[in-house]
Amino acid sequence: MQPTTLFYILIAIIIISFMIDKILETLNAKHFDDKIPRKLADVYDEKVYKKSQEYKKINAKFSNLTSTFSIVLTIAFFFFDGFKVVDDLARSFTNNSILVALIFFGFIMFGSDILTTPFSYYKTFVIEEKFGFNKSTKKTFWLDKLKGVFMSILLGGSILSLIIWFYQIAGQNFWIYAWVLVAVFSLFMNMFYAKMIVPLFNKQRPLEDGALKLAIESYAEKVGFTLNNIFVIDGSKRSTKANAYFSGFGSQKRITLYDTLINDLEIDEIVAVLAHEVGHYKRKHIIFNLASSILLAGFTLFLLSLFINSSILSEALGVSISSFHIGLIAFGILYSPISEVTGLIMNYVSRIFEHQADNYAKETYAAKPLITSLKKLSKNSLSNLTPHPAYVFMHYSHPTLLERIQNLEK
Ligand SMILES: [Zn+2]
Repeated sequence: MQPTTLFYILIAIIIISFMIDKILETLNAKHFDDKIPRKLADVYDEKVYKKSQEYKKINAKFSNLTSTFSIVLTIAFFFFDGFKVVDDLARSFTNNSILVALIFFGFIMFGSDILTTPFSYYKTFVIEEKFGFNKSTKKTFWLDKLKGVFMSILLGGSILSLIIWFYQIAGQNFWIYAWVLVAVFSLFMNMFYAKMIVPLFNKQRPLEDGALKLAIESYAEKVGFTLNNIFVIDGSKRSTKANAYFSGFGSQKRITLYDTLINDLEIDEIVAVLAHEVGHYKRKHIIFNLASSILLAGFTLFLLSLFINSSILSEALGVSISSFHIGLIAFGILYSPISEVTGLIMNYVSRIFEHQADNYAKETYAAKPLITSLKKLSKNSLSNLTPHPAYVFMHYSHPTLLERIQNLEK
């Protein structure tokens, strides 16, 4: 194959996936003004429903703007040999291929960060602010940015360096070592994320004694679930939106409740949400997700190892010195249709898991408080209650509110 042919294949992949997204978004937007299903009639009153429609429309417009901006820039970057320019620049500092790769990705990420930060600033301080969701101060916003950059330099940089080093010593077999590294790293992160990463961004405290804790403990005992770690996190530092999640396993398993969730819901509703999270654990969803993401990483790395040696990847991007990092960029784009498909499958499985966790909560606790909590949470985040089925199929990791309620009432 000619490098030019590959170049145009890469461009075609970028444009087609952009167009698929646009079609889905347009279909979804057609349903913004639909009548709310009867079962969900009590979620919004007239005024809040109007507000939710406005929120959907503003967000759709905004995401349209950002994605168009980003694809125009990406295509321009390709046609003006952007990768070659950055690669040459990185090579002007050093000859060491690991350092060249780090500097290369450093520049790319720095550049894209500068271009996207105004958008996330606008999203937080104009859109979310307007609808009363934003609680972030400017200081929190910039500190988050800084910490995020620091984390990606530290974690991303060291993983990338190790993988390139494996490639230097093991050649095409590097993928096996890289896979082991990624697997160990995922396991480690899953276990210690809450202890090591979350404290950088949030304060967590154990749930204090009181009626809520008693209710949770009595539920946990009933289902034979040892739960020593229930934490409350200060989500209200950034947003009024509420959440709860499960992390870790074995002795490290813990449930994290947002302080906003505790504010918004009654005790039995919080226990129902928690029962749903316990359901994910009991039905082995946590282990399944972890195992499948590790298997998928192995598959991806194996495919990468088949392509990375061929210089055509670099030549297609206009770079004459072929290298791991340029090959990685080209491979990333070639792989994106496959990751669309795997993402679709993961979302499909995740929606089944959500129903299973809901069923677990229904069987071991009760359906009613879970239904009212889901309604409240939807209301408080101005959720879209009438999404297009095709959009749900592609993008939703959770079933729609209507589907969850129908399932819970069965
Ligand atoms: Zn869930």
